Amino acid sequence: MTKRIFRAVFLVSALALAVGLAFLMVVLYQFFGGQLETELKNEASYLSIAVENDGAKALEELPEHAERVTLISKDGDVLFDNRADASEMENHAEREEIREARERGYGQAVRTSNTLAEKTVYYALRLENGDVLRISSTQYTVAALLGGLLQPVLLVLIMVLILSGIFASRASKKIVKPLNELDLDDPEANETYDEVAPLLGKIRNQQRTIQQQLSAAKRQQQEFSIITENMSEGLLVIDKQTDLLSFNSSALRILGAKAAPQNQSVLTLNRSEPFRRTIDAVLAGGHRTELLQVQDGFCQLIANPVLRRGEVAGAVLLLVDVTERIQRENLRREFTANVSHELKTPLTSISGFAEIIQDGFVKQEDIKKFAGKIFDEAQRLIVLVGDVIKISQLDEGCLPYEEEEVDLFQAAGEILQRLHDPAQERGVSLHLEGGHIIHQTVKPILEEILYNLCENGIKYNREGGSVTVTVRRGEDGAEISVKDTGIGIPKPQQERIFERFYRVDKSHSKEVGGTGLGLSIVKHGAAYLGAGVSVHSEPGQGSEFILAWRGKK
Ligand code: ADP
Repeated sequence: MTKRIFRAVFLVSALALAVGLAFLMVVLYQFFGGQLETELKNEASYLSIAVENDGAKALEELPEHAERVTLISKDGDVLFDNRADASEMENHAEREEIREARERGYGQAVRTSNTLAEKTVYYALRLENGDVLRISSTQYTVAALLGGLLQPVLLVLIMVLILSGIFASRASKKIVKPLNELDLDDPEANETYDEVAPLLGKIRNQQRTIQQQLSAAKRQQQEFSIITENMSEGLLVIDKQTDLLSFNSSALRILGAKAAPQNQSVLTLNRSEPFRRTIDAVLAGGHRTELLQVQDGFCQLIANPVLRRGEVAGAVLLLVDVTERIQRENLRREFTANVSHELKTPLTSISGFAEIIQDGFVKQEDIKKFAGKIFDEAQRLIVLVGDVIKISQLDEGCLPYEEEEVDLFQAAGEILQRLHDPAQERGVSLHLEGGHIIHQTVKPILEEILYNLCENGIKYNREGGSVTVTVRRGEDGAEISVKDTGIGIPKPQQERIFERFYRVDKSHSKEVGGTGLGLSIVKHGAAYLGAGVSVHSEPGQGSEFILAWRGKK
């Protein structure tokens, strides 16, 4: 811009100066030309008076530097010329100025020399006797004048150009400086040309619009990332080439990816066949749902195509972590199968005994014994069904109980009281230690837990052994320990005993009337109460189960 302004200013000023100069020269030339004419007229009139009085003699005394004076007779012969020999000069009768002078008293003519460098101005005056007095003066033509003045004119022109250059440079810088110094971030603060004000106004309005649009876009972006980042479901947005456009951290977590592949295909996140198949199908325009096996479990993939003007432009993939659901379903299926199996055994026995009695294979005196067996199996069934109901209720979390203040020591005492007879039957002594601790909890569930733990302590004990329940304050809160001197549990099985229907020794468990659900109920019940159960056991020495509330009272 500075260059263009410079060029324009320079051209205009140079042109103005050059034209001005030329114009001035022409005016001066005209002026001096007119001056010369007047001088010639005056001189002619003075000399005419002298010639009228003294004749041609008056002209002979003219000074050397005087203008050229010529006296011509009425016939045109040259009578006198102060610059040339009159006798050698040709007849002047037909010269323009002479003819005019003869006709109307004075005549004027201008003649340019052959070289065009000079022009001669003639003024002729008719005398009383008819002779004509002519005075002439030579003047340079404009071209000659310019030619003669070429050097100084060129000098002046160069100076004019230099001056124009300096002026143009300063002017252009001065014009551009305020424009360069404009603060476009704050257009209103600028003090500059009035002409720029509308432009600054427009910039300000545009900036405001851009700012508004930017903050709206930022807000939307933030809202979007807050929503997506707080979603437990994974979200992936891909383009037509399967390249990842957007994702949330849940998606990476579910797919087990550590970092998002920058500008890479979504297929690098999961290379399984079902995933690839779903992506192909969704990019072909179809809606798909697929169950995927991922690193730590399962996820439900819901894929929808994104259409733009009727064409598939990409896809949105939603990943729902269904590991827990699948595990729960598997567990339930396994549990149902186990329950059916566990129910079948006593039912088969009951049915068998009844059949034998019905067929009359049992002697009258043995019927009581068989009836007792049927009763035992039926009792086993009742206990089993009872345990199944308890565990199902804990699973569903729909227990009709409410929390209350429970004296843990007293509750443990009551349980030991209930187990007094079976313990005595097995020759196991029961002990209660510790002190009274009041705890806000669900009493029926606590009783169920303690009953199962103490019953196990008795069941898996030895003749003359003991079960000791201790109520105490642990590191984090209340604790109840159930310690026995029984057979103990081998280390590798200690983790598994809480699984449904898991028994270390199946036949022994059945023998002592176990269902394999007791510790499972303990674990679920403890979780329901916000507590945890741990086990410490040495085979042959005994086991200790600790029910502990963490971070509470
Ligand atoms: P069960 O009805 O068979 O007793 P549980 O779920 O209560 O089922 O216990 C699971 C298994 O853990 C038992 O079969 C037994 O092998 C073992 N077990 C539980 N408690 C004890 C204990 N106090 N001492 C030794 N083994 C135990």
